[in-house]
Amino acid sequence: MIEGVLIDNIVFEKMERSSRRFSPLEAGGLLLGYRKDGFLHAIDITLPGAWDRHSRLAFHRSVKAHRLRALRLWRKSGGLVDWLGEWHSHPGFALNPSGTDHRNWSRIAKHRKAPMLFPIVDGQRAELYLKQSHKAAPSKLIETDNDEKGRYFCVSD
Ligand SMILES: [Zn+2]
Repeated sequence: MIEGVLIDNIVFEKMERSSRRFSPLEAGGLLLGYRKDGFLHAIDITLPGAWDRHSRLAFHRSVKAHRLRALRLWRKSGGLVDWLGEWHSHPGFALNPSGTDHRNWSRIAKHRKAPMLFPIVDGQRAELYLKQSHKAAPSKLIETDNDEKGRYFCVSD
């Protein structure tokens, strides 16, 4: 069970910048950080690369290229940084998960056997969703606090 989520400001800045850069095509990547006693703390993301395929309604990331970048951060952190989830952009449309998003998120959470975070951004705003195996639908996260380092969220239900 996840009680709370902390996302560093740099994570939002990188997602928004990348989303604006690729708009009107979708962008995406992995979300990386720490898991600790019911809390998730995201500290970094991977960015779209030459091996990914973008369209207006989909983003297909190259599994290998993103894993390699995640692996580099994992090694640099002494094995502490974990894969927390996946972010992607909806440039110019609602930040609600699509049917494809729901299917992808379920598959990822099931495969990882861990709660996973799924931010959707549009260049200015972000919505965060958490997929936990004991719940059929992803929960939307609610911002409760923020400071100079990042933003804090709790699980809505
Ligand atoms: Zn989507």
